[in-house]
Amino acid sequence: MPFTGSCHCGAIRYTVDEDPPSKAVMCNCSICRRKAQLHHFTTPDRFTLETPRDAFETYRFNHHAIAHHHCRTCGCSPFAEGKTPQGEAMVEINLRCADEIDADALEISHFDGAKL
Ligand SMILES: [Zn+2]
Repeated sequence: MPFTGSCHCGAIRYTVDEDPPSKAVMCNCSICRRKAQLHHFTTPDRFTLETPRDAFETYRFNHHAIAHHHCRTCGCSPFAEGKTPQGEAMVEINLRCADEIDADALEISHFDGAKL
């Protein structure tokens, strides 16, 4: 069953065509530790952005490998786009912005992004 999510004001809304995940990744890199995001990774064919792309701005740093999007209105970061280390397109879903997902019930694994 697909799950959905949005930024706080609703200018960014998405649907992910897969069951709501029970696991998430926390990363300690310089941006993720500031944003406290809970990551889930999916592929572009499963991701549908339901709102116009001009609702968000994009921040890139370091190798510019990942497009970190944030809402122009409310500042939330419900998703990002980039490539896997293998070079395949991926979409990062911030489960903090997903609907009906209990963040406290997620099984968390830790990724040492600070070492990259
Ligand atoms: Zn917003």
